Amino acid sequence: MERPRYRVVITDCDHGSVEEEKKEFGLLGAELVLAQVRKEEELIRVCKEADGLINQYALLTRRVLENLPKCKVVARYGVGVDSIDLKAATDLGIIVANVPDYCVDEVASHTVAMILTLARKTAFFDRKVKSNQWDFTQGMPIDRIQGKTLGLIGCGRIGLEVAKRISPFGVKVLAFDPYIQKAERGIELTDLGTILKRSNFISIHCPLNDSTHHLIGEREFQIMEKRPLLINTSRGPIIKEKALIKALEEGRISGAGLDVLETEPPDSGNPMLEMENVIFSPHVGFYSEESISELKQRTAKNVADVLSGKKPFSVVNREVMGKTRASIPSD
Ligand code: NAD
Repeated sequence: MERPRYRVVITDCDHGSVEEEKKEFGLLGAELVLAQVRKEEELIRVCKEADGLINQYALLTRRVLENLPKCKVVARYGVGVDSIDLKAATDLGIIVANVPDYCVDEVASHTVAMILTLARKTAFFDRKVKSNQWDFTQGMPIDRIQGKTLGLIGCGRIGLEVAKRISPFGVKVLAFDPYIQKAERGIELTDLGTILKRSNFISIHCPLNDSTHHLIGEREFQIMEKRPLLINTSRGPIIKEKALIKALEEGRISGAGLDVLETEPPDSGNPMLEMENVIFSPHVGFYSEESISELKQRTAKNVADVLSGKKPFSVVNREVMGKTRASIPSD
């Protein structure tokens, strides 16, 4: 039997089948090995002959990468690449690729679902009816959604899709995003203070980094004039949880929808677990059958592209272009 031209190793993943990934390598003559290893020594042992890697949680340290002489590309399942030593990969000429946009539809729809659930109090009424309480007055007051204002903090891929979905409800959209000059879809770009003051709904869609850690804290809750609903489907630590709990206890905000938390899962003593006006989901915004399928397929394609001499869709360490081990065009 002819030897495969390339060897691609999936270091680890939390899904059982890799049939979708396999399809991407069919024509390329590459063998795909699912290793399910995470320890440094094991990673070096199973990956040392690999031309390309796919990883999920396994840490690809400088030491691991230095022991992979043939490796031209590492593709991570998902957006974040903190499991890969990017500097080492760049020094060694290894391309690191990700899939930054596989779940935009899911997170945007999840966000709008949370806004509507809180605004119409559907989860609240569901709990009441199931405990034999058929009384709409328990949910009073409910304000009309039409004519309200949504403030987005971060207006990239997901923020824009949230705006697109909520606008037909007659909701005006404001956005604070220091890195964009112009927003589409009738969105009004403004400063953070204005978002906090004018919004009835506030939704967070910026990345977590040093400048956004605890971006919403005591001071910000005090500026909120309209007792907004606060939604976070981005990352937990962007909101200072102690300040959020205090704002809910003091009635400074009307409620919160949280797909992400500072501590996931929440401690059993977290007071928000007892609050009727707070709804949770277990960091599921990214998920649908279609988004996972797309993630698998596009992660594998990132590797297949490099091995067949093409630049992949999303290169994380762009500085590597022009000095890669792979023979692909540099721009
Ligand atoms: P994106 O990069 O397209 O957009 C992020 C936007 O935030 C950019 O426009 C950027 O300019 C802006 N931004 C950066 N710093 C900011 C700041 N200090 N203040 C305000 N805006 C700032 O990213 P995206 O695809 O829209 O994803 C947004 C976030 O959603 C991700 O960073 C991730 O944390 C989160 N996310 C969550 C899930 C989930 O399952 N809940 C899934 C995917 C992504």
